[in-house]
Amino acid sequence: MYLGLLITGLIWGEGHTAPWVIAIDAGHGGEDTGGIGVDGLIEKNIVLQIAHLIALEASSFPNIKIILTRSDDRYLSPAERIIRAQGAHFFISLHLDFSYDPRLRGITALVPTNSGDSARELAEILRKHLTRATKATDLGTKRAPLWLRRLSIPAVQVKLGFITNPEEARKLGQLPYQRPLAQAILEGIREFVLSLPTSIVLDPPRHPDAGAALRRVCSPHCGLRTSARSRERAYL
Ligand SMILES: [Zn+2]
Repeated sequence: MYLGLLITGLIWGEGHTAPWVIAIDAGHGGEDTGGIGVDGLIEKNIVLQIAHLIALEASSFPNIKIILTRSDDRYLSPAERIIRAQGAHFFISLHLDFSYDPRLRGITALVPTNSGDSARELAEILRKHLTRATKATDLGTKRAPLWLRRLSIPAVQVKLGFITNPEEARKLGQLPYQRPLAQAILEGIREFVLSLPTSIVLDPPRHPDAGAALRRVCSPHCGLRTSARSRERAYL
């Protein structure tokens, strides 16, 4: 079931104190605003605030270490996000939803089309905790051609609500709603890692594509930034 993790490296057994490392990826950033919703609420800002709250609240969760792919308002290509997630065992990307129908609301989890059981299981657990904590409508888990498929670790995208639904947008912009979202994600991570076999052998913290991705990012003529941005916009 957890074949994606069964590679050589760190042994997670009883009494092991090495932390689980989770990459939290605030979607969009910089000139890529993501969705702009009710009252001018901007997706990139809301998901960044929630990412920071997750990092802050993680101090109450022993054995969970958070890496933020971005900690400020800057655009990052998928390749740059992959590089910044090096060392993580799992990857969770934060987004909001957008619709021209203001009635639509709720929380969705997405997994890349090539994901295995681990990502699917993580998505289900995160969605359960998020909808339980917020009483938001549960829109299920879906498969989508996300750029996250390029990661070699289990990866999930969560859409934390509709920025175009007046009531949901109002709540998403406020700390008393953002904090339970952050805590629910941490509770979900904890439940997921506790569900893993205690004798599991984890992938060592590295990413095999990181070197190639770095070379592409650094190439002045590769055009990756433009193509990556359009690809991300198309799929998120
Ligand atoms: Zn988005």
